[in-house]
Amino acid sequence: MIPIPESICPLCSQVFPSELLREHINPEHPRLRHSTIKVIQAYHPGWVEDHGACEPCWRSYREASRMFNQMKSAKPKNPPGSWKPAELAAQSPAKVQTGPHEAR
Ligand SMILES: [Zn+2]
Repeated sequence: MIPIPESICPLCSQVFPSELLREHINPEHPRLRHSTIKVIQAYHPGWVEDHGACEPCWRSYREASRMFNQMKSAKPKNPPGSWKPAELAAQSPAKVQTGPHEAR
């Protein structure tokens, strides 16, 4: 049996021709490609560029990485590489100290 030249996108679990999982990554600008890979890895630990990503997934993560880059340049306090997706979820409205003793 000839193996079917299809691969599952590890990011959205949809089946694509193997080439489509990589051909849009290679021509990407090295810097943008690197930051996009880091964003994908933040959401999918263990993912490596070699696993590939379908174009819709790649494009959405690429857009995300561009936004994060802008956020980084706006916030010099956060050194590059310290960003974690958990921090986004942690950005809840200011924590209000409402201890049980202060109920009244
Ligand atoms: Zn995908």
